[in-house]
Amino acid sequence: MTTAIVVGSGPNGLAAAVHLAQAGVDVTVLEAADTIGGGTRSAEAIVPGLIHDQCSAVHPVAAASPFLRALDLERLGLRWRSPIVDCAHPLDDGSASLLYQSIDDTADGLGDDGARWRWLFGALTADLDSLFEDITQPLLRLPRHPVLTARFGAAAMTPATVMGRLWRDEPARALWAGVAAHAFWRLDRPMTSAVGLMILAAGHQYGWVVAEGGSQAIADALVADLTAHGGRTETGVRVWSAAELPPTDLLLLDVSPSIAADILGDRLPPRIDRAYRRFHHGPGAFKVDFAIEGDVPWRAPAAGDAGTVHLGGDAAEVIANELAVHRGQMPERPFVLVGQQYRADPVRSVGNVHPLWTYAHVPHGYTGDATEAIIAQIERFAPGFSERVVGTAVRSTTEMSVYNPNFIGGDILSGASSPLQLLFRPRLAQDPYFTGIPGTYLCSASTPPGAGAHGLCGLNAATRALAALENSRPS
Ligand SMILES: Cc1cc2nc3c(=O)[nH]c(=O)nc-3n(C[C@H](O)[C@H](O)[C@H](O)COP(=O)(O)OP(=O)(O)OC[C@H]3O[C@@H](n4cnc5c(N)ncnc54)[C@H](O)[C@@H]3O)c2cc1C
Repeated sequence: MTTAIVVGSGPNGLAAAVHLAQAGVDVTVLEAADTIGGGTRSAEAIVPGLIHDQCSAVHPVAAASPFLRALDLERLGLRWRSPIVDCAHPLDDGSASLLYQSIDDTADGLGDDGARWRWLFGALTADLDSLFEDITQPLLRLPRHPVLTARFGAAAMTPATVMGRLWRDEPARALWAGVAAHAFWRLDRPMTSAVGLMILAAGHQYGWVVAEGGSQAIADALVADLTAHGGRTETGVRVWSAAELPPTDLLLLDVSPSIAADILGDRLPPRIDRAYRRFHHGPGAFKVDFAIEGDVPWRAPAAGDAGTVHLGGDAAEVIANELAVHRGQMPERPFVLVGQQYRADPVRSVGNVHPLWTYAHVPHGYTGDATEAIIAQIERFAPGFSERVVGTAVRSTTEMSVYNPNFIGGDILSGASSPLQLLFRPRLAQDPYFTGIPGTYLCSASTPPGAGAHGLCGLNAATRALAALENSRPS
């Protein structure tokens, strides 16, 4: 029987493991942490019974993931829950731009700019599943849907600052800038529209959903599928070197490229070793989870119905602060993401005490404390917030990379969103998953299509591993 070891149990490691196990491979997943799930873990942190997403929280791209959809994880306990408002972007005048799953509802709230929102996202979602077939694969291949993909590609190449000029007024511009900021890169650079367009297109089709009971449910459902196909997981096993592993036909690494280079050592071809060590990481996330009594007292009441709230002021402010963070400067008012998952998924709360998920964009490896800056940003749009705080749990950029070694310097995207790395990660190659060592593949979010809890990097790597294995067999 063919054997495989997967190092790391993030959504991509688990996706790879599931795909291999379904193909009849005997799979073992080795995870350094004491719990399974990597960036999809959820846990109590402040008040007993209150569930906090430790990393990923909001899942438009996972909901759109052809791999996760085909697995039908609902039968294994994964249930998506939708907020009334997908995302709110409050402004200083007390108003808020509102993103709904419905393109029409969103456009109706954007005044004269609504028509262009409707036109752009109507086109991108017309055949989203076909589009996803192409844009979730490495670039160096012939697209299956060339017209669709070329249309998306032309928009994705555009700097987010230029794309923002599609809209004339602040509500639409700010809404776009906040979503584009998920690229975690200076927004005046080419390709910085790609991430925002993908999230928005996926969200308009499938919603900015959260997993019932916490994102951990995604990992748990994948593990249930893996176990049903004979696979197993072992926690508390940090792999330092491939030499310490038992012999195996396939080795898949759900880790960042520099960690893969350390694990594979001098078995790695020198040019690939150099590419893995050159791979660079982007700005960091400084995370603060809150336990709050009652809801956040937003000045714009509709923000209370939102699963996600973007706090960054107008578009110009978001753009300036993303540039500062990119340059290694900590802004006074950093861009802050707030997750109110409990609004769609009340089981995470305890009575009237709710978990509030936040993180700020900070420079790579930022060593300061951004807690007060996050609280000040929330107070700016929700005066009186501090009085509702029952407790906090803080994770700095350094603590983030201890919690998960893949998040180097607090880089939660497992690699900077520079144009080159968005197009070719972790290196320019037709098969970017292959490490150059027969049977050994990188399958983390440092490979295409990049960050998110969609499992598609894992699926792509496992598919190539199986194909190579098949081709190597004597006919
Ligand atoms: C604060 C935060 C917010 C986020 N928000 C979202 C969001 O809302 N939506 C979304 O889609 N994504 C979000 N993300 C990103 C998402 O979590 C990641 O893109 C995703 O988890 C990457 O999956 P992965 O499988 O590639 O790796 P990871 O999830 O990083 O998992 C890798 C696993 O490998 C283990 N590992 C590493 N090295 C070793 C080793 N040597 N030996 C054994 N095990 C090892 C790690 O412990 C970890 O468990 C967020 C991330 C963070 C941190």
